[in-house]
Amino acid sequence: MIYLENPDLYLKTILEQEGVPVTNDKESAAVFVFLKGNQLVFSSAPNPNAKLKSRSCPVRFITVNNVPHFYNLQLVDINCQCDIPANANLGQSDRGLPFVYYDGGEIMVIPCTPFLTLRHRGYQAKKFYVQQGRCPDETVARVDRGGVRRLIAASLRMFLNQKNLPYIHLSYAPAGCRSIFGFRVDTDYAPLKIIEKCLTIPESFGMSWTWFIMTSEVTVNEAPIFTKLLSDQDVQLHCHYHVVYPDIKRNIANYYNGLKKMMLMNLKPSGVAAPYGEWHRAIATAFAKLGFSYSSEFCYAYDDLPSRPVIEGTYNPVLQVPVHPISLGRLIAAGMNEDAMIEYYKNIIDLQVARNEPCFLYDHPQTIIRFPRVIKEIVEYGIRQCGRWISMTQFAEWWAKREKSKYQCRVSEQNLEIEVTESNPELELVIELNEFIARVPYVSGKYSLTALNWTPVEKKSCPADIAKIRHETPAWKLKNHLRRFRQQLRDLRMLGGDLE
Ligand SMILES: [Zn+2]
Repeated sequence: MIYLENPDLYLKTILEQEGVPVTNDKESAAVFVFLKGNQLVFSSAPNPNAKLKSRSCPVRFITVNNVPHFYNLQLVDINCQCDIPANANLGQSDRGLPFVYYDGGEIMVIPCTPFLTLRHRGYQAKKFYVQQGRCPDETVARVDRGGVRRLIAASLRMFLNQKNLPYIHLSYAPAGCRSIFGFRVDTDYAPLKIIEKCLTIPESFGMSWTWFIMTSEVTVNEAPIFTKLLSDQDVQLHCHYHVVYPDIKRNIANYYNGLKKMMLMNLKPSGVAAPYGEWHRAIATAFAKLGFSYSSEFCYAYDDLPSRPVIEGTYNPVLQVPVHPISLGRLIAAGMNEDAMIEYYKNIIDLQVARNEPCFLYDHPQTIIRFPRVIKEIVEYGIRQCGRWISMTQFAEWWAKREKSKYQCRVSEQNLEIEVTESNPELELVIELNEFIARVPYVSGKYSLTALNWTPVEKKSCPADIAKIRHETPAWKLKNHLRRFRQQLRDLRMLGGDLE
């Protein structure tokens, strides 16, 4: 059990994503979690003597290799000023220096807090790893929310496991699945005929994709045809016009028109995905005001578990459901052939499965019909490796139930005692101990740890040259500056009302 001494919303977000049991009772706590200045501290005692000599230092990213318990992290963007303990001994920053301090028993120090790393809302172009050839890039969240969460979870797991205590959390996918696979399509300007062609792929797998419709492209006559065509699919709203405004009012107007058009299709969407994966306060607030349950924008988060963004000191009610942000168009731009594309996505799926996390990929109808072999192969591979498929809406609904679950647990003498407020067959608890993993149903009960069905964790090795994706050549820096400048110019023009 975890006791939080002085949590903020950002730390709570991470612990809720992980689904770890938090207690209000100091007596039953196995670990005390503190926010101390710019550091996050785990301690066995309620009042740790954590006066460690630290040095303030900017850190762009860290990599973790050959540290037990720190697996499947790959590269984690940090992008903040950190207070690194003088005797840090785990991980490696972009400057080649150790990052996390652990004394092997009583105290562990992560040199930045979730607040420092996660509060940033900006976005930037980032490259995604491939072994050979040009790395694809996309404009995504500057913050690596998934990476920061995994770093904190791995630290917590190490801290507990070193004391022979298991790291216990809710599973990241519905009960019975190790991972789960989903596919999202943003219809953009695709005509009905192209959408019809794409549909043969999910139909051949008996699968529902999640279709985010751009409604300005749907004529009144086509509306009922759309409804019929996509009757077995999960249909949600991409936008009316393919634009994101810098103010709340016009975003509401645009999405209100989208909702009206979807009413003609007899549909009431609960999910939404903004054009270009763009996310900021104005669009998030518009979605909340229109009553959407979830949205999916990689300028907020990518390759991560769902969460509720913190806006003006409170959680936004619209759940964020992240996807992997690289679509086929980005792989084409990186000069990849079909085999390289398939290999790229297989690596993404394998990594998410090794992490026991869901895997959602996304694309557009025009590129899907250009590369049907690629899409068929990765969908088939995704379902096989992840265990089964789910639509984004079903997953968001499952996650909302997971958020409501409350449980406590106690470990003593190799016995695990679980007490859930209300049992739920769709949930499972995951027990991680010394690089082995076991699952138990989400019901109250007592288990002998030795009698659980343990399997070894799966570790995907971190490529030795992973840091190349954050190498910034002058040309890359200039490209990023120009991108940002164009974005600011566009927002300024829109705020002036000068929109064609
Ligand atoms: Zn779009």
